[in-house]
Amino acid sequence: MSTSANASIPPLGMVSTQVTCPSCHAVVMTTITKESSQSSYWCCLLLCVLALPCFALVPFCLNKFKDFRHSCPLCSAHIGVYKQ
Ligand SMILES: [Zn+2]
Repeated sequence: MSTSANASIPPLGMVSTQVTCPSCHAVVMTTITKESSQSSYWCCLLLCVLALPCFALVPFCLNKFKDFRHSCPLCSAHIGVYKQ
């Protein structure tokens, strides 16, 4: 019987979360990397098309459009992504 590696991963959010790393099995606080999600690129494109290039970069500055990627600080393993 095998156990899912993700079984010990609690729900991820916008803050660092204590998890057991599925890769190195250490109990760590996740490292968060904010990434612009796909929706911000579409929003940028849309704003450019609407001739408002000044505002096109706005979505990249808003956390609302960011994905929060959680990774292990010890082995850099990808643990999960919190999408808003
Ligand atoms: Zn790890």
